[in-house]
Amino acid sequence: MKRVLITGAAGFLGSHLAERFLKDGYVVIGMDNLITGSLKNIEPFQENPNFTFVNHDVSKHIEIDGQLDYVLHFASPASPIDYLKIPIQTLKVGSLGIHNCLGLAKAKGARLLIASTSEVYGDPHVHPQPESYWGNVNPVGPRGVYDEAKRFQEAMTMAYHTYHGLETRIVRIFNTYGPRMRLNDGRVLPAFIGQALRGEDLTIFGDGSQTRSFCYVDDLVEGIVRLLHSDHSEPVNIGNPDEITIAQFAEEIIALTGTDQKVIYKDLPVDDPKQRQPDITKARQLLGWEPKIDRAEGLKRTYAYFKSLSQEELRQTEHAQFDQYIKK
Ligand code: NAD
Ligand code: UDP
Repeated sequence: MKRVLITGAAGFLGSHLAERFLKDGYVVIGMDNLITGSLKNIEPFQENPNFTFVNHDVSKHIEIDGQLDYVLHFASPASPIDYLKIPIQTLKVGSLGIHNCLGLAKAKGARLLIASTSEVYGDPHVHPQPESYWGNVNPVGPRGVYDEAKRFQEAMTMAYHTYHGLETRIVRIFNTYGPRMRLNDGRVLPAFIGQALRGEDLTIFGDGSQTRSFCYVDDLVEGIVRLLHSDHSEPVNIGNPDEITIAQFAEEIIALTGTDQKVIYKDLPVDDPKQRQPDITKARQLLGWEPKIDRAEGLKRTYAYFKSLSQEELRQTEHAQFDQYIKK
């Protein structure tokens, strides 16, 4: 049986990947230090004999016994609120963490895939964003801790590929949503749905004219699996090109949840990208991949998950605000 190490396995995407690889007959080692993840996300397969959980900070040296065929590096705070709260850990997991994963993959002869991000394009001047665009990133702004860590991670991964001949893959993930997101991670979808469920007004940052393009998690996982098994070591965008403004998105959440709350406006966070849409030509051509689940269906499934949470869980998820974390 093939053995795969997934870092960040107790997080949103890591837990969906673990589930998929177990379903496909792999032995999965999930590694996480639970800094933004939760054991609840891996509860569904904790009893599976092919799954092992290791509580470990991947920014520290990693030891794994036995053979390893694949390493998927997904550990990293991922929401703007999270990486504003823990900026140094974010930089470390994208630099020291990837170095440890690359060393491990090299020692085991494993193929490594990293979770990169549309944030490597920063606040983009090219729209939609193809992989050939080098981006517009402010290294010293609040988002720099995440964006630059991810850019370093790509450079380090490419160096191991070029100089050590390591088999590597780089996926640039665009805003992805679905069950198991943390209700108070500050990202827009859990923020709006959490507010609707708690009977609070929905907070739009800025005037709501900024755009995002939301991909349902099952589509993303399929794209990642195809990329892993392809022979392409250059970065590949995976995301859903269906772009909307945040104001329209708030209206969709209001219609979905039936809340009678209104929207209220707050300051736009510093360096918040004005527009974002993946150019997925490469994924279509190289992987024969494109998203299949539209926003109406994806939101329905995600809302069903959030509705199933207990009142206790809902109460503990007061929406975090950006201005608490930005040092003026
Ligand atoms: P998440 O916060 O739910 O998951 C990240 C997981 O990594 C958490 O379980 C956390 O505890 C773990 N982690 C963080 N630092 C660690 C460390 N030093 N050692 C061990 N574990 C650590 O976020 P997510 O949305 O699932 O994101 C997963 C990955 O995908 C991240 O690398 C993120 O940058 C990338 N990504 C996600 C999106 C998205 O839209 N969800 C978009 C672009 C990129
Ligand atoms: N956003 C918002 N209200 C919220 C949370 C986020 O208007 O309560 C906006 C945010 O400013 C950004 C967009 O929604 O323009 C997407 O934010 P998210 O944190 O989900 O992801 P990212 O900015 O990393 O794409």
